[in-house]
Amino acid sequence: MKKLSSKFALCIAATFLISGCAALKNTTPARPDYIQASVDLVAMNDDRVQVQITPPKINAEEITFYIPQIVPGTYEYSNFGRFVENVKAYDSNDNELSIEALDQNSWKISNAKKLDRITYWTSDTFDGPEGSEIYPMGGTNYKEGETFLLNLHSMIGYFEGMKEASYRLRVRSPKNLEAFTSLPALSKSDTLDIFSAKRYFHIIDNPILYSEPNTVRFDLDDIKVGMAIYSPTGVHKATDYEAAIKEMMVAQKKFLGKANNTPSYDILLYLMGMDELQYFGGMMGALEHHTSTTAVFVEQMQPQELTQSLVDVVSHEFFHTLTPLNIHSEEIHNFEYNTPLMSKHLWMYEGTTEYFANLFQINQGLIDEQNFYNRILEKLNYSQRYDDTMSFTEMSAGIVDEPYQTNYANVYQKGALINMCLDILIREQSGGDNGILWVMQNLAQRYGTEKPFQDDALIDEIVAMTYPEVGEFFKTHVEGNTPIDYMDYFSKVGLTMGETEVPLPSILFKDNQSPFFAPQPNASGVVQYVVTDLNTTIEAMGVQVGDLFLGLDGKMLPEIKQENAEGINAVFTPSFMWDDQKEFSITVQRGEEQLTLRGVTGTPSAKANGVVEDPTATELAVALRQAWLKK
Ligand SMILES: [Zn+2]
Repeated sequence: MKKLSSKFALCIAATFLISGCAALKNTTPARPDYIQASVDLVAMNDDRVQVQITPPKINAEEITFYIPQIVPGTYEYSNFGRFVENVKAYDSNDNELSIEALDQNSWKISNAKKLDRITYWTSDTFDGPEGSEIYPMGGTNYKEGETFLLNLHSMIGYFEGMKEASYRLRVRSPKNLEAFTSLPALSKSDTLDIFSAKRYFHIIDNPILYSEPNTVRFDLDDIKVGMAIYSPTGVHKATDYEAAIKEMMVAQKKFLGKANNTPSYDILLYLMGMDELQYFGGMMGALEHHTSTTAVFVEQMQPQELTQSLVDVVSHEFFHTLTPLNIHSEEIHNFEYNTPLMSKHLWMYEGTTEYFANLFQINQGLIDEQNFYNRILEKLNYSQRYDDTMSFTEMSAGIVDEPYQTNYANVYQKGALINMCLDILIREQSGGDNGILWVMQNLAQRYGTEKPFQDDALIDEIVAMTYPEVGEFFKTHVEGNTPIDYMDYFSKVGLTMGETEVPLPSILFKDNQSPFFAPQPNASGVVQYVVTDLNTTIEAMGVQVGDLFLGLDGKMLPEIKQENAEGINAVFTPSFMWDDQKEFSITVQRGEEQLTLRGVTGTPSAKANGVVEDPTATELAVALRQAWLKK
């Protein structure tokens, strides 16, 4: 997974509304040996979709039906059962069987030998109970007649002891909408699609996007690539992004070499509106699957901005086909959706993945050296927001609970930096020949989708195929709690800290972390935003230190106080979507005068202390840097 902000709490709300709607009638006469799941996207009721599940004949007196508490790739409790209500069980004569909710995510059915089917209504996570806590890329959205984003883990469950049974999924859909998914289809028509899934995991590993057709498909040698976009106003066309996705995936395949064996890859890109972005607290990102990814961004992003976000985020997801999808522990292989055991190796599942998503871009020439160093610096800065003395393996094993959960986002920051250090160490020891990619290629050959490693043995295995120094690093900085002195690793490859021009995330910033303004109370105690620093863009527009910042691009800021956070964000957020051509204005007060200053975004930058090449580096260090970045 890759996300751009985080705030999560466990949800304990569950409501069971009474609904008088009739169950879907199952007309199959004989009992098949697969589980049949039916979803009706046409006959909706109050923004809810009805689901019916028909299991094979059950030979136990009672059986439990589960909706997942947690799903792979998310590392937090989601309790998807709270989006399910009015669960009913029937025998083949349409008599109701007794059913009891055991907790938010499980239901016990008595007299199970007589069970013919269960039915329930599902709410979408985009506006369902406490739905904002679910990552949008792992969520569902029902927009009647217009689009359906189906992450099936919030809609379809499994029976106790039957996770390995195969599924047939029947989806009745509006005529104008077309399904896009990597789930194999047995048949497709305007109004009814039938899919098959080998086991429960397969059904939730293949999300489905129903929308009006907006897709592109192409072959990259032996890999079939597809992308579908749901764009509410239709401004973003899949064909506009084909070239960028092609370039990115060609580069990734070259980078991975023999470690890539993915036969097909589908990108489901769901673009939400600003209101939805606000609902999710600014959260965007993507979730990995074996042969697809669901990415959620905001439609207001300019094409250039969206393209770079797609490259950064979708490349991360595609690298997940290496780990955890092809290299994972037993805990992940036999994933328990309702009593999870977590693996210790988030430094690899997310850290290596995120590191590669940056390294391949410099390795394959998509970005230049300074851009790569700036990305490293950004990770270094952001990692300081989290507990730098927390053992990474301990955090990973306990990630669903505190104090680990609030440090989760550090897997994208320090997790990537751990891999950078390992990479430099292994390059140094091997005279530049091998790095962390070589380790991953070897692990991919040894393991694979069907062969998990033992969680406790992985680090020893890596040390055995590399060097004792690597073992020391793991013991001290990954298992242990000693912070990494990154300067040690920078100096090995001839880098140092020094003044550099750093590009900014938006025109609102003075460096890559802080805005160019600060809240300060005036003489009468009213808090105002005072301009404290400048960046190249706003300086060129004529903004001056000491100005009061009143508004952006015609939208005036409300009074600066906590209760107005949403209104303040609404003024600021659009600036993150602007490309470098956007004309905009800033309204300031200077003395008695109110000024509206106009300009173009350009590429705002500021002088800052950053990672730079050391002109006094030894030849050996420069050669190691070349091997690290370009080999
Ligand atoms: Zn990820």
